[in-house]
Amino acid sequence: MHTRVIRAIGIEKTEGNALECIQGKCIVGGIAVGRIEIYKEKQIAITYIRAEDVTSELTRYEKACAVAIGQLQDLYEKAVCELGESEAQVFAAQTMFLQDEEYHASVKGWIEGKHTNAEYAVDKTGKWYAQKLQQLNDEYMRERSQDVKDVSDRVLSILIGDLSKSVVSSRRDASVPAASECGICEGTRMEEKIVFAKDLTPGQTMQMDKAYVRGFVTTTGSKNSHAAILAGAMNIPAVSGIEIRQEWNGKLAAVDGLNGKVYIEPDEQTLEILSMQSKAVEQRRIQLEELKGKKTITKSGKTVKLYANIAGKQDVAAVLENDAEGIGLFRTEFLYLNRNDYPTEEEQFLLYKYVVEAMQGKPVVIRTMDIGADKTVDYMGLAHEENPALGYRAIRICLTRKNIFRVQLRAILRAAVYGRVRILLPMIISVDEIRDTRELLDEVREELRSEGYRCGEVQLGVMIETPAAVMISKELAEEVDFFSVGTNDLTQYTLALDRQNAELDVFYNPYHPAVLRMLEIVISNAHEAGIEVGICGELAADVQMTKALVEMGIDELSVAPTKILQLRDLICQIN
Ligand code: PEP
Ligand code: MG
Repeated sequence: MHTRVIRAIGIEKTEGNALECIQGKCIVGGIAVGRIEIYKEKQIAITYIRAEDVTSELTRYEKACAVAIGQLQDLYEKAVCELGESEAQVFAAQTMFLQDEEYHASVKGWIEGKHTNAEYAVDKTGKWYAQKLQQLNDEYMRERSQDVKDVSDRVLSILIGDLSKSVVSSRRDASVPAASECGICEGTRMEEKIVFAKDLTPGQTMQMDKAYVRGFVTTTGSKNSHAAILAGAMNIPAVSGIEIRQEWNGKLAAVDGLNGKVYIEPDEQTLEILSMQSKAVEQRRIQLEELKGKKTITKSGKTVKLYANIAGKQDVAAVLENDAEGIGLFRTEFLYLNRNDYPTEEEQFLLYKYVVEAMQGKPVVIRTMDIGADKTVDYMGLAHEENPALGYRAIRICLTRKNIFRVQLRAILRAAVYGRVRILLPMIISVDEIRDTRELLDEVREELRSEGYRCGEVQLGVMIETPAAVMISKELAEEVDFFSVGTNDLTQYTLALDRQNAELDVFYNPYHPAVLRMLEIVISNAHEAGIEVGICGELAADVQMTKALVEMGIDELSVAPTKILQLRDLICQIN
């Protein structure tokens, strides 16, 4: 291709052949080509209208909710059939949100207390929840605000369709064809499309006609969004971070999800190159499928355990699908977020039991809750901190608020009856923390038995994610059954670099000799004590490091489920 690349504020423009290549963020890998369809959300203008008849306004709201729940159930069933249980969960979660008592109380509060029309009450409530979620430090939780918006918009659309509507206007951009006209939702468009949108909700993503939609390009959205998860499950390449221009509508576009690039009006040569890449990606996928059920072993016979990181029930299907040999990190704190009160013992027990049973005897490493730092929980009433990453976090909360910890330990011990469970303690800096936890575990076990519950055997391990833990890893190794190195925090604390601060990304270097030397110390001390050591931080999935980590003697790597087969392939090629 004869091109000159101009870099101007994130834009690479190739001159001389009417081709524009824009760099965005990789969301879903793969390559797609099609005509651009700019998707515009319906703009719904809601105004306050005094409700003279409060009862009828409440009835309208309740009916709209019932219809919305019906629609969500249809979407759930469609998603189960087309994509599987795991991907359908988003619609189950949205249904639960719509059944949430607090949400209803808030909407009803507006109608009854302030005599507002139902639309106004739903709009206010939805925006309030979405804004609360947007303010959280955790990117995953921020993405959930899109779900709240999706649910509220669904109820609003139903209310607006109601003839007794009190909405002033419901309009769509006249320059853009209706979804049903252009076929990107449920219509019958004949041409392959790349959908460009500011953002896409899970509902919009699911409703798109997969027969014609080849790719997604959005302005906002991260890999953690449910829309991205669904796009991934639908195998639709996606790129985000692209400022969309109206004049692109109808033009040809190519999406390179692997490299996060979008080409507008690509020339023949670009298309040829992309087509070759696309074939290579597909071949690679088929090749990797062959590794399912195979051992992860180097040519010289060293076995490396390949486990998966999960944040909840929704990830289990991907763990099984990608043939993980166990779960190496279950970040249980996600269970505590985005709610109004602590999860009960029963709720936790049922969740852990589900995961343990699904793994059918393969190990499940349950990390006790790592609340604090970027994962904040309002109902815990934690004080504001100047330096939360160095603050009241993880094991520090657990051992000073033992009642909370006891509930989690009870649930884990009960779930351990159903499989192979290991408990992993985060943010450890002393031997005493392990001894205190063991003492508590013994007490809780006794308590459960006296109440007639069965308890399973559990192994106890610690995360090595502070320089302190590295320096005393010899002593720690005498106290526990395994180590798991959290390289994300270990890099942050070793290099004194806030991992949350995007401006520091250029300095954040997990290959820093200080971090790698720490890894060597930890591996050596673990092996001397006869225990296994794994890595569950992002470094475990870094293919540039796989050979070095195996050569250092790492026993286990725990990574996102989709990385498992790629790593197995690499490890099997190491001498
Ligand atoms: C880590 O710190 O590397 C780790 C795995 O824990 P988290 O990313 O959840 O802090
Ligand atoms: Mg950590």
